[in-house]
Amino acid sequence: DVLKSTRREQTVVPVLDVEIGGNEFITMAGPCSVETEFQLMATANHIRRAGARILRGGAFKPRSSPYAFQGLGLAGLKMLARAREESGLAIVTEVMSECDVPMVSEYADILQIGTRNMENYALLEAAARSGRPILLKRGMVATIADFLRAAQLILDNGNPNVILCERGIRTFETAMRNTFDVAAIALLKQISHLPVIADPSHAAGVRDLVAPLSRVAVAAGADGVIVEVHPNPDKAWSDADQTLSFAEFDQMMESLEPYIALR
Ligand code: PEP
Ligand code: MN
Repeated sequence: DVLKSTRREQTVVPVLDVEIGGNEFITMAGPCSVETEFQLMATANHIRRAGARILRGGAFKPRSSPYAFQGLGLAGLKMLARAREESGLAIVTEVMSECDVPMVSEYADILQIGTRNMENYALLEAAARSGRPILLKRGMVATIADFLRAAQLILDNGNPNVILCERGIRTFETAMRNTFDVAAIALLKQISHLPVIADPSHAAGVRDLVAPLSRVAVAAGADGVIVEVHPNPDKAWSDADQTLSFAEFDQMMESLEPYIALR
């Protein structure tokens, strides 16, 4: 069951040499989309030196517009695998279709289910059965009960390694891309034994809010964050506005330290 049966119960998800949901606060970082070998390698090397443990990057992109860049597909997956070889970082990447699950799980260490697919139960079942850990993003109009039901389906398909991700929800507020539901993080940590991470990039939609929301996520009890980083953020092929430069990422990491020390 996704709910805790005792106060102390906590799932720890092992990924290569990393444990998500354990004592270490885990930072996942990388570009929204995998673009070029240079972009990905430069980012991987930088975030690793700054203390990140997992490299993110989309090869299959669920874009809000059908005319926007849709991702490099298999070529992107191959770049991610090469980045893992060179950097030693584990890879998280989105899988959008159940047909792609075998291919994506061949290259990725963690399968990301995007907000638009949280209730795609055929995809959740296929992803669960791959045996790979699943980073499950909260649907942008999903209640916490909806979110936990989706996580439950993965567990029921024989995969205990689910990481919950709060990435902002749709509300009446339009000043930010989404409304960051920090209370959901605190609540999920209380009622569920699954690791919970925060995605301040997609919640905020603008880069200046990413570091403050990350600090709030740590304070709320998150097990980690996932943030978008790019060597030249303004030129990013997707989600440029919310993407951090290397220097901004370093500043964010530094600003998190005192909050992480208090966990
Ligand atoms: C992403 O991680 O780049 C992404 C598309 O996220 P979400 O599904 O939360 O919008
Ligand atoms: Mn993105």
